[in-house]
Order: sequence, then structure tokens, then C-alpha cells
Amino acid sequence: MADYDYDLFVIGAGSGGVRASRMASQFGARVAVAEDTFMGGTCVNVGCVPKKLFVYGSHVSEELEAAAGYGWQVNAAAFDWPTLRDNKTKEIQRLNGIYRNLLNNAGVEVIEGRATITGPHSLQVNGKSYSAERILIATGGWPRMPEIPGAEHMISSNEAFYLETFPKQVLVLGGGYIAVEFAGIFHGLGAETELIYRGPMFLRGFDQDVREFTAKELAQKGVRLSFDLNITAVEKLANGRLRVSMTDGSEREVDCVMAAIGRAPKIAGLGLENTGVTLDEAGFIAVNDDYQTAEPGIYAVGDVIGGLELTPVALAEGMALAKNLFNNEQVKVDYSNIATAVFCQPNIGTVGLTEEQALQRGHSLRIYTSDFKHMKHTLSGLQERTFMKLVVDDATDKVLGCHMVGQDAGEIVQGLAVALKLGATKSDFDATIGIHPTAAEEFVTMREVKRRVSP
Ligand code: FAD
Ligand code: NDP
Repeated sequence: MADYDYDLFVIGAGSGGVRASRMASQFGARVAVAEDTFMGGTCVNVGCVPKKLFVYGSHVSEELEAAAGYGWQVNAAAFDWPTLRDNKTKEIQRLNGIYRNLLNNAGVEVIEGRATITGPHSLQVNGKSYSAERILIATGGWPRMPEIPGAEHMISSNEAFYLETFPKQVLVLGGGYIAVEFAGIFHGLGAETELIYRGPMFLRGFDQDVREFTAKELAQKGVRLSFDLNITAVEKLANGRLRVSMTDGSEREVDCVMAAIGRAPKIAGLGLENTGVTLDEAGFIAVNDDYQTAEPGIYAVGDVIGGLELTPVALAEGMALAKNLFNNEQVKVDYSNIATAVFCQPNIGTVGLTEEQALQRGHSLRIYTSDFKHMKHTLSGLQERTFMKLVVDDATDKVLGCHMVGQDAGEIVQGLAVALKLGATKSDFDATIGIHPTAAEEFVTMREVKRRVSP
């Protein structure tokens, strides 16, 4: 057997790479991880964590609005962007240190620099060569930008976290997680915000009722939603503002245009041409069920292999890989019933099948829905409403999908995901006694069938 420097060399200290390297090392493997940008990867630095901090920050404006109804006089509230931005950055720096310590304490060698694969078992970082029995590509993704004139004047989510000045008027292009979340952030922090989406209804892939309800809520709060529209060009004006041209011939003048049109796998310059690694049709690294690429000694997990681009998914893949390679286990990640949240305001929490997916799979369904005003808003004066939906298989009574738009939807649906994982039926939901008074209790008190639908 060849003598390698490491049993496992991981490229990328993000969600998947950190989890895989820590666990592999704890199982006794000799592990190194190379990171060229930020410890902890996208989630910690320009993803989940700073985004959620901004969501909290932006939601304060609604709390201030709600205060009067509860008897609080809040005078002269003002928002200071540099404070939020810099406090967030300090927290991220603290987390960077924690990630570094986690790796050091687990006995993983951390190598700072950009890794290039030079052969099936060899790499280079900062001009130095390394060999490894196995290589794990966990390099994540990077924002795609539109290929239109003036795209260089647009920002992506990466830059949104570090803006020098907070814009007064913003256009957000896209209709996925990031666009919808950032439209809420910009709006909540006081920018006049318009979301531009190329199709008739944003959040493709989510339950249709959820999409429509979310659209109504965002619009009601003051986010301008422009569907069936796209941006054709961006021009920088002498006064520093941006003139934006649209497919319908209209124009906007704003301070900031943010593109959130998806993310591409980060594989440029990785040296894949020196290996047998292949890509799938969408350009992600192709792997088998064991995350092995077409080059037997090279594996890949996380956003770089596509699929559900979520931190807990990257973590689960990294963990499964480490267990299977270095602890003699045969773990398979179960991709069914993965709960997810969109942290728009109010947020979306969802697990299981949408009504449309369930019908496509041939289920006859009972649909239960509830649309109500959260108790908090009886005094807050805010118009926000909450929506809940259960998609139930009529023949077996099994709950196939659970969807919510409303305050704390992510928190609530996380618990229900366990029930769905265990195969809960609607009768199980009915037999569960609620916690009163909560919004969540509505999930166990929806008695009336809203409609029956069949494929
Ligand atoms: P990453 O975390 O991206 O890590 C890859 C690492 O590899 C990076 O640190 C990169 O610098 C490094 N790297 C790349 N190439 C090289 C190289 N050649 N050499 C050395 N290092 C290299 N997911 C959720 O579950 N919940 C959320 O709320 C959420 N919010 C998000 C918000 C935003 C704005 C974005 C952009 C993403 C969000 N995500 C969220 C998605 C989540 O961040 C990703 O799914 C997750 O980070 C993927 O982990 P990963 O390990 O595959 O890659
Ligand atoms: P998504 O893939 O979720 O959405 C991309 C959006 O951009 C879609 O609405 C798509 O439209 C639209 N689009 C694609 N190409 C173009 C184009 N050329 N012109 C105009 N619009 C275009 O990507 P995001 O960037 O929002 O986020 C990336 C991933 O990060 C997410 O899929 C998610 O997995 C993860 N993430 C998770 C979060 C969470 O868990 N809360 C938060 C943020 C990100 P169409 O639907 O028509 O294709």
C-alpha cells in the first residue's frame, strides 16, 4: 500500500468538510483540511448565520410598530446599519475561531490556502505538495450572476453582508430562498424594496398555497412584488445610482440591485482535469450513493454535488462519509422528509410533500388548512396572518406534508418533522393535545377537511 501523508485530505472547511474531517479524525484517520477563504464556510460567513442575524435585526421594526398596541411609547427609533453590520461581523469572527478550535481539538491539520488537485491522490496548497489516500471535495458553491450588460454593478448575497452604506431603494432579482429572505431583510431595515421574479409565482417547488399566501403577506407588508419580469441591463449613473432596464420596457432607478439567481458549484481551478471526476448535467460533481466520484479515491459532499443545498444536508453527508470510510459503518442519508425554512417575514416552515408532489405521486388527498390572525396581532395592530396546511393521504390517513407560513414556522415545523419521520397519521395529530394558547396548537386541531383531491 502506498504511503500517503494523510488518510483523508478535505478541501473546504465549510459545513460538510468540517463535519467529515472532525469525525474522520476522531475515528483515528490522519486528516488535513484546506480552506482558502473563511473558516466554517458559507453558512457561518455569508449564509445561514449572518442572514438570520439580519432577519432578527430587520424584524425589530415590526416589534416597534407593534409596541404601541401593547402600551409602549417608542419615540424616535432609528436604525444604524454600521452597528448591525459590524456586530454581525464580530460574531462571525468569534465563530471562525470556534471552528478553528474544533478542528484543532479533533486533531485535524488545518492548512490555509487554495487546494488544487494534481492527481488521484495528490494536491498542492500554497505551492506545497501533499498526498492522501482519499480526497474529499467539499468546496460548496458561489453565487451565479446574470449575464447581462452592467451585471458588474449588481451585488450578490456575499456583498449584501458588508455594504458600506445601507441603500434607500433596492431591487432583488430572483424568486428562491435568498431573494425572498433578503427582500424581507431590506424591507424590514427600511429600504424601499422590489422583488423581481421571472415567472408567474416565486418559490417554485414549494406548496402552491404556501407560495400564494407568502406573496400576499409580503405585498401586504409593503414589499413590491413584480412577477413575469426580468432585468435586461444595469447602468451606473453619474450620481452613483443605478438605472435598471426591464423585459417589459420599464426602468427603475435605485441604489442597489441584488441578484439571487442560484449558486454554482465552486470547482473552477480545482484541478478536476487531473482526475477522472465527472460532472452531472447541471454541472455539479457527480457521485454515487456513497459520495464517491468517478475517480475512486475522490469523494464529494455538500453544495458541490447539488441536490438540497442546505447546511444540515451537508453535515449529514459529511458525517455519513466519515462513518462509512473510517468506522466500518454503512450509513445512508435519508433524503425524505427533510424539513426546511425560508426566513422571510413571516417565515415558511415545511416538511414532506407539497399537495402538487403528492398528487403527482398518485395519492388521493385530504387537505386541511387554517388561515388565522396570530393572537399577538389582536393587539399589535399588524395585519400579518398565519397559514397552516396538512396534506394527508386519504387511503392510509398518513400525513404526507406539513406546511406553515407564520411567526416561528421554522421552529414549529422542526418538531413536526419528527412526527412525519415516524409516519404519523392525521388521527395521531388529532389525538395530540395542544399547548394553549399557541399558534402551533392549530396543527393538532384542524378538524375540517378543506378539500379532497385526486390525481
Ligand atoms: P460551504 O459551506 O460553502 O463550504 C465550502 C468551503 O470550501 C468554503 O469555506 C470555501 O472557501 C472552501 N473552498 C472552496 N474551494 C476551495 C479550494 N480550492 N481550496 C480551499 N478551500 C476551498 N442553509 C440552511 O440550511 N439554512 C439557511 O438558513 C441557509 N441560509 C443561507 C443563506 C445564504 C445567503 C446562502 C448563500 C446559503 C444559505 N444556506 C442555508 C445554504 C448553506 O450555507 C449551504 O448549503 C452550506 O454552507 C453548504 O455547505 P458545504 O460544506 O457544501 O459548502
Ligand atoms: P434558488 O435556486 O433557491 O433560486 C434561484 C431563483 O433565481 C429562482 O427563483 C430562479 O427562477 C431564479 N433564476 C434563475 N436563473 C435566473 C435568471 N437567469 N434570471 C432571473 N432569475 C433567475 O437559489 P438562491 O440563490 O435563492 O439560493 C441558493 C440555495 O441556497 C437555495 O436553493 C437553498 O438551497 C440555499 N439557501 C437556503 C436557505 C434556507 O435554508 N433558509 C436560505 C438561503 C439559501 P426559477 O424558479 O424560475 O428557476
